[in-house]
Amino acid sequence: MMAKLVDAVFGCRHSRYSFPVTIRGAKPRPQAGALTGTYVACLDCGREFPYDWQEMKVITSQAERREYITSLTHRQAA
Ligand SMILES: [Zn+2]
Repeated sequence: MMAKLVDAVFGCRHSRYSFPVTIRGAKPRPQAGALTGTYVACLDCGREFPYDWQEMKVITSQAERREYITSLTHRQAA
């Protein structure tokens, strides 16, 4: 109850995540998994985020998203 109020005022800090789920096959992909093919769900607010297996981190911001795409480009170029 209190946590919900804190989320509403300050935004969820997304500190607890489900185990990363990798999306396989031609099933429709949740938006969150479209970037990396893997996503996690926040256990507090239920939002889904792309997960980077290589870096072992959750991509929660636009900056991290750009960083991921940049590193992908570099990996493919190498
Ligand atoms: Zn959250």
